[in-house]
Amino acid sequence: MRKFLTWGLGLLLAAVALPAHAQPGMGPWLDEALPAVEGEPLQMLKACPDQSLSGGVQLKERPELYRVMSPDAAWGRPEMIELLTRAAEEMAWLKPDADPIVIGDISRRWGGPLAGHKSHRGGIDVDVGLYWGNGEMLKTGFKSGPPQELDLEANWLLIRSMLDTGLVERILLDQRNIDAIKAWTIKNGELTKEEAEAIFPAPSNRRWNMTGVVHHTVNHREHLHVRIFCART
Ligand SMILES: [Zn+2]
Repeated sequence: MRKFLTWGLGLLLAAVALPAHAQPGMGPWLDEALPAVEGEPLQMLKACPDQSLSGGVQLKERPELYRVMSPDAAWGRPEMIELLTRAAEEMAWLKPDADPIVIGDISRRWGGPLAGHKSHRGGIDVDVGLYWGNGEMLKTGFKSGPPQELDLEANWLLIRSMLDTGLVERILLDQRNIDAIKAWTIKNGELTKEEAEAIFPAPSNRRWNMTGVVHHTVNHREHLHVRIFCART
């Protein structure tokens, strides 16, 4: 499976390995690891607008790829739509028998406060369902369960598909789920211990702004919260 490790993740891993003092600004692990869009390299903002959304795009339902739980809260920056579309297309190719991905809230049409969330105000945050059993997601929302019932391979492939876009700043997930997915990647030769530690840093080995990608947060046993970088156009 290692042959599938694309340049985006490879560069991410290379960047993660830099010493902290060599990493300026936000999202240091990706400063030089961004994909070109229409021939132009993305120039990332130091900080995305996170309180409101202008120029938002609504994620449209694509039953073969993903389900949108709340269309009124499915507005995101164009980079968000690209992230979800690219990741879902890759999952459809890698795991054609898996259920469509359940997409929860992104943001409202013009952003701003969204009920039930502290963030999700600028079209740069999205909640995404987890795979359970054998590539299963609920049709109607997020399913919860013990980590041993997760489809670890499918969840890793989903995370990898998102990382491969070069657009992910941070993923939040319950630590028990992180531990299970991380252990699976090492056991199955997807990642070395060092690579896994770079993406899923242990709680004792991370700082919020500078380390890794996938971090623990409470109330995230049944979904991933993904925050993206945004591009200067
Ligand atoms: Zn969220």
